[in-house]
Amino acid sequence: MSTGITERFGRILDRKNSAAVRSGRDPQDVTLMAVTKTHTPDEINEAIAAGATDIGENRVQELLEKYDRVSPVRWHLIGHLQTNKVKNIIDKVVMIHSVDSVRLAREIDKRAGAAGKCMDILIEINSAMEETKSGIAAGDLRTVTEEITSECSNVRIRGIMCIPPIAVCPEDARPYFKEARELFEMMKTWDFPADRFCPDTLSMGMSGDFEVAIEEGSTIVRVGSSIFGPRNYR
Ligand SMILES: *Cc1c(COP(=O)(O)O)cnc(C)c1O
Repeated sequence: MSTGITERFGRILDRKNSAAVRSGRDPQDVTLMAVTKTHTPDEINEAIAAGATDIGENRVQELLEKYDRVSPVRWHLIGHLQTNKVKNIIDKVVMIHSVDSVRLAREIDKRAGAAGKCMDILIEINSAMEETKSGIAAGDLRTVTEEITSECSNVRIRGIMCIPPIAVCPEDARPYFKEARELFEMMKTWDFPADRFCPDTLSMGMSGDFEVAIEEGSTIVRVGSSIFGPRNYR
């Protein structure tokens, strides 16, 4: 039975590439991440067979339940992470997009060190300072970066993730994407040791607004429902 995932993934990939080209960018510089929360390993494997290289999960428990049943792929953690769960995913993900405190970075540092690896992280920015969302204020980015790079030798800051307020139309998100891009460009001028700080990743854009995000400089878009269909939360 066809679930339509193969076709939808292909269409989103085409749209991702076209948005890059029309913005004068190399399509290879923008990664399409398939966000799989609530979806089954079979569905995820279908997306991987269709060409998905990067998978994003929000919750540690869900990632662990699926991990062994999904074909080899690059896993990203994109949801709020509690410090006591870091140890469970440290050897499974290539990047943690949702680092929202120095305390969390310290725990990642400790667990990465124990696992003999260096973990790539993004700092999550709470663009509109919404109470319901995690993430740090843009104004705190410099201080947080300073603290993490000075204390954590097994963590490398690769850039920022932002989630703008829920938009009615894609254009509503543009000012937030612009702001995140400016922050990201400013970050690139900061001088911290390259083994701990290498800002090359701007994680922004979801199903409703990923083309606008690419126009504004996103390097990785996180697309769920446009690939897998609507989510049924159990
Ligand atoms: C669910 C989720 C997405 C994907 O959202 P869609 O609108 O389904 O594309 C992207 N990023 C984060 C952090 C998410 O939680």
